Amino acid sequence: MNAHSSDHGDHVCLLPQAEISLPGNSGKRWRAGVLGATGLVGQRLVKLLAGHPWFELTEVAASERSSGRTYSEAVRWHLDGPVPDAARGLIVKGLDPNIECDFVFSALDSSVAGSAEEDFARSGYPVVSNSKNHRMDPDVPLLIPEVNASHLDALPAQQKNRGYNGGFIVTNPNCSTAGLVLVLKPLADAFGLEKVFAVTLQAVSGAGYPGVASMDIHANVIPFISGEEEKMESEPQKLLGKWDGARFIDAGLRLSAHCNRVPVLEGHLECISVSLKKIASLEEVREALGNFQVDSELASLPSAIRHPVLVLDDDDRPQPRRDVHAGNGMAAVVGRVRECPLLDIKLTLLSHNLVRGAAGAALLNAELLAARGFLNRRVLASKSQSTERVHP
Ligand code: NAP
Repeated sequence: MNAHSSDHGDHVCLLPQAEISLPGNSGKRWRAGVLGATGLVGQRLVKLLAGHPWFELTEVAASERSSGRTYSEAVRWHLDGPVPDAARGLIVKGLDPNIECDFVFSALDSSVAGSAEEDFARSGYPVVSNSKNHRMDPDVPLLIPEVNASHLDALPAQQKNRGYNGGFIVTNPNCSTAGLVLVLKPLADAFGLEKVFAVTLQAVSGAGYPGVASMDIHANVIPFISGEEEKMESEPQKLLGKWDGARFIDAGLRLSAHCNRVPVLEGHLECISVSLKKIASLEEVREALGNFQVDSELASLPSAIRHPVLVLDDDDRPQPRRDVHAGNGMAAVVGRVRECPLLDIKLTLLSHNLVRGAAGAALLNAELLAARGFLNRRVLASKSQSTERVHP
């Protein structure tokens, strides 16, 4: 293991939670709602929000199957430990954009996420989405803070285009794209990228609950995940590209992905080959990956980890069962960096599909939005709501 991988603890929380001060001087946490709170990603968000230093969970919403019941009655809880106290007694709401919170996370099924997220944004709520529906919209940031924080500059254009007043939509990438792009970013910065070839081995939890039938996946591999290869081949172009003040410019990469579902519970493993614009030794590639670290703005965010890419030297790592929780589930874990006879280098990477690939990613996005003054405190004035801008 190299200097950054000798201890997974090197990669977790930069500061004790109590020392992470709220941006702005109000001393009040932002009130967060979770749409799709009963699903696999929604539950992760509910759990991550319990005790969060900046955000307080005040609303949960889901389908008609769940609404009107308390969260603990409606949810089929899949995580270790009990349903957090802050969520237990909350009444699950429907998707009417009139709930008591300053912004919403969306972990909605894609069949409803598109229009519901627009309704909330139009009603003045910042929407921090996990769903695929708006990721590739020409005015919506597809965000990984460590990769393309500058894409938030597109938000004023989005609000103007759509006539949103205070509301907006920010998305995080598909779960297999998230780990891939975190690893590609330091390589793009150091050497430039030409081509990427990826083969994934993706966990069943990536399909939500109940997801893939056990009869289909037990002792088996399914070499098809609907829409996944298309997302992996398009989203990195936007993430590694630029916002030029009017539009997103693609990174101009050539990508090919093969996506497979495997009988693993959590953690997507990816075998990738990459061709670089500049010749680099394996040692230089390992160094670029292991030395990748966040700047001081990101370091101040509660969910940030200092080194988002963890490089392991052991021949048989990363492994989902052993490595999926590295960096509180926020690290992309890399191993087997070696020469590729077809392209330049190849390696194996692992990331937690429900944390780095979904709930943790959304939380980090919301923290960056808060730190940059994009979250408003919604003031309830009888039935109609107004918003109050907060400048950190
Ligand atoms: P899930 O377990 O199937 O949960 C879906 C959620 O959407 C549930 O809360 C469900 O509420 C709600 N919902 C479904 N139909 C609805 C309707 N008609 N009206 C209102 N709410 C409705 O899915 P998931 O895995 O958590 O994924 C959630 C979103 O995140 C999806 O868009 C998915 O593509 C995306 N995502 C998932 C992952 C992953 O690894 N799983 C990673 C990245 C992104 P009820 O419980 O009331 O039915």
